[in-house]
Amino acid sequence: TMSCLTAIDAADGLGAFVHKTPEIALEQARAADARLAAPGAPALCGIPLGIKDLFCTKGVPSQAASNILRGFKPEYESTVTTRLFDAGAVMLGKLNMDEFAMGSSNETSCYGNAVNPWRRQGSNVALTPGGSSGGSASAVAADLCLGATGTDTGGSIRQPAAFTGITGIKPTYGRVSRWGIVAFASSLDQAGPMTKSVRDAAIFLQAMSGHDPKDSTSADIAVPDFEAALTGDIRGKVIGIPREYRMDGMPAEIEALWTRGIEMMRDAGAVIRDISLPHTKYALPAYYVIAPAEASSNLARYDGVKYGHRAKLAQGDGITEMYEKTRAEGFGPEVQRRVMIGTYVLSAGFYDAYYNRARKVRALIKRDFETVFAEGVDSILTPATPSAAFGLGEMASADPVEMYLNDVFTVTVNLAGLPGVAVPVGLDGQGLPLGLQLIGRPWDEGNLLNHAYVLE
Ligand code: GLN
Repeated sequence: TMSCLTAIDAADGLGAFVHKTPEIALEQARAADARLAAPGAPALCGIPLGIKDLFCTKGVPSQAASNILRGFKPEYESTVTTRLFDAGAVMLGKLNMDEFAMGSSNETSCYGNAVNPWRRQGSNVALTPGGSSGGSASAVAADLCLGATGTDTGGSIRQPAAFTGITGIKPTYGRVSRWGIVAFASSLDQAGPMTKSVRDAAIFLQAMSGHDPKDSTSADIAVPDFEAALTGDIRGKVIGIPREYRMDGMPAEIEALWTRGIEMMRDAGAVIRDISLPHTKYALPAYYVIAPAEASSNLARYDGVKYGHRAKLAQGDGITEMYEKTRAEGFGPEVQRRVMIGTYVLSAGFYDAYYNRARKVRALIKRDFETVFAEGVDSILTPATPSAAFGLGEMASADPVEMYLNDVFTVTVNLAGLPGVAVPVGLDGQGLPLGLQLIGRPWDEGNLLNHAYVLE
């Protein structure tokens, strides 16, 4: 814990931590020491972690990287962080992210973006750590903590993991409680661990998982021993390679990485099978209807009354002006865009054309996966991202759709509620990390992590 706290102070330039909690960390570390002195301490006991700013942590600023939550200190602790602390984990502080987890580069954060500790060979251009869990990825990759919590609505654990050369898993929807995590799109959001290794991810996920009566979508399903599943034995397992993920214009390096992953799994005794997920091309548009729709509803609560920021009012302003001014000042441009898209697609005149259609597409995407799993596929191997980490500022100024295209390989998994893991598999020609994604059957995180273990 001490060496992490020192490293964090020395790495302020990365912008990974937006709020440091050294007093809490030292107190928790002392308690962990006492537990470790006795037999039977849990695996996470004394392990220093970073917590994404989206998690409510009692008495500690929890702002979802938004100005609208400025100064908000929750009266309660999220279920995930409660579980982690009960297991003896130590909180070093809160981690940077895109505002309300909307973004793929960490550039929508009210704190300014976190920076990727990696650089292109011979270049000083600062790169994005990805998003929205960019601070988590940056902190883990730079060894400022041993692991970090992330959340993933459309790729926000897996894409930053891939951009920073670490492992990140989005569990099956319902595996981890959403209680006390600031909601973005409730039917898609899941929390998960971001770590240096697959084994760490297994241990960390174990501690986060399990039924929580406070989240009605949390599943009452036993949590198996994820670490015990890491045997490295995948002989006879069927790995699906979906042809729809071979996109036009895919960089040769991503193609080569994918081929390498396929060879590694074949060498380990897996059976490689070409599969089809025919509705893949509709996933991105469906996601960018459903996620903003749910966000517009979830974000209605930020009205200047209940939490955080309230605008200064002029003489004669009423409650409507208070709402308008507070939300106009408090939400950044990307969040405002999402709220407007969401409100539009849910409006009476357009509901059927957009929201309802997107829901139907979502059902078809889910069915595509169910079909291949029913035909014996154990997991599906794809690239995690369409490129390596890009330069900060390179995409943010462009058309927002350019940024949305980053999520092309990851959003299907959230729409279908499946577990997905990103694992680092190699470097590109400029020395930047690249990741592959494995998608698993529902509740099969154990096998999924074991498959990822073979790629590590
Ligand atoms: N980049 C996606 C978005 O902006 C995913 C975000 C996420 O998973 N939280 O919506």
